Amino acid sequence: MTFADLGLSPDVLKAVEETGYKNPTPIQEKAIPYVLMGRDVLGTAQTGTGKTASFTLPMIDILAAGQAKARMPRSLILEPTRELAAQVAANFETYGKYSKLSMALLIGGVSFSDQDAKLDKGVDVLIATPGRLLDHVERGKVMLNGVKTLVIDEADRMMDMGFIPDVERIVSLLPPLRQTLFFSATMSKDMRKLADKFLHNPKEVAVSPPTSTAATVTQQLLMVQKMEKRPALRKLLREQDVKNAFIFCNRKKDVDILLGSLIKHGFNAGALHGDMTQSHRMETLEKFKNNEIKLLVCSDVAARGIDVSAVSHVFNFDVPTHAEDYIHRIGRTGRAGQEGHAFTLATKADEKYLDAVEKLVGRQIPRMTLSGMEEVAEEAARISEREKRNSGREKSGQRKSGSRKDSAKAAAPRKSEPREEKKTPAAATPAAAAKTARSKPNGSKSHSRHSRDDDAPVLGLGENVPAFFNITFRKSAEK
Ligand code: AMP
Repeated sequence: MTFADLGLSPDVLKAVEETGYKNPTPIQEKAIPYVLMGRDVLGTAQTGTGKTASFTLPMIDILAAGQAKARMPRSLILEPTRELAAQVAANFETYGKYSKLSMALLIGGVSFSDQDAKLDKGVDVLIATPGRLLDHVERGKVMLNGVKTLVIDEADRMMDMGFIPDVERIVSLLPPLRQTLFFSATMSKDMRKLADKFLHNPKEVAVSPPTSTAATVTQQLLMVQKMEKRPALRKLLREQDVKNAFIFCNRKKDVDILLGSLIKHGFNAGALHGDMTQSHRMETLEKFKNNEIKLLVCSDVAARGIDVSAVSHVFNFDVPTHAEDYIHRIGRTGRAGQEGHAFTLATKADEKYLDAVEKLVGRQIPRMTLSGMEEVAEEAARISEREKRNSGREKSGQRKSGSRKDSAKAAAPRKSEPREEKKTPAAATPAAAAKTARSKPNGSKSHSRHSRDDDAPVLGLGENVPAFFNITFRKSAEK
């Protein structure tokens, strides 16, 4: 099948041809004809399947007829993260180059005034993260009763991130007579229930998630003790021929801690997670793409959908708790037939998640040994000993100050990643994150910052904030 068989307009076909795509992907083949018919679509597809073009291409044709009014967008695309929203906007720019559609991107971390100015002129396509869109609605800057096409993308991620109440509120402001396209990587019972609320007699299209990993990626797994993770990672980074790498952590908190550790140990690293300001995230990503930053420590949510070619390595600092994330993660290396390498650090406690990953990819990830593990174990023992010491000191400190309750609260794990776009800028920098880490119950305030025996400055970054942080923060604050 060709793109021309799908019923797209000559303008869109010309733009698609210029991107170099030869044939539509399965999700494009299945979804585009229904979208063009004006049907609601319930799509099961992940990023990487060509899902974005499956709704952007037909939308460009649907929106070709009609005109936008001030503050009344004609279509709305909801995305869970700023990066995904920005990527969808880039897709519209690419595929819509011969169509005269106006577009606005409403994401957190970007000034309201530019976004307001665009809305005032009237937009055909509004691409937004839920929080920022509601901010605009509450300020009376946008009315949603003119939206005739709604896309809810990555609905399962929206749910993971706690955005569904916001999405429901947004949908309640839309006219009931509209076309709705609902995409999710997985289609659980909960997802279907949710989709039922938004869709009318939808056509269901599904493409199976990729369950295989590229043959060009070598995969290895190193079993370690929890405390051995950081020293083992450093050893791998030093010994492997790493040109650039994504390093994945399961939690945002650990992204900050690991970044601090890597910088302290002389690695050229940056981080990407949802608590950073938009400008800082974009700046970091740009530096990574330009090779100014070699290692990018990130969470799955922040890295999802980011398209960087030529990445030599992926390191899973944690085994992902969602098995599909393993495929997403390691799919960032070995692209377009290039060679890639993926290393995963796992502890005994990860066995359940590891089983799920291996079941999904249909094979066992080869186990590796690391020469010099004795040094790693020794270093880990020192870290462990120090943490015990600090924790003892903290406890006695707490008893003295009676602040136990607060500390316990601070240490309680968060149920899910908090919404990204409502963060205050004050908490959105590595420096601020370091400050937060400093105040954690087992922080290393009492620890000498000159001691050589562990990763102390990670938690005790305090007065020792590297110039790198300040410069980056100042720069993004100035923007
Ligand atoms: P997506 O799933 O929308 O994030 O797309 C994943 C990647 O596939 C992006 O880099 C797209 O540019 C690319 N892509 C989309 N459609 C096609 C196609 N028909 N042929 C080849 N690549 C495509």
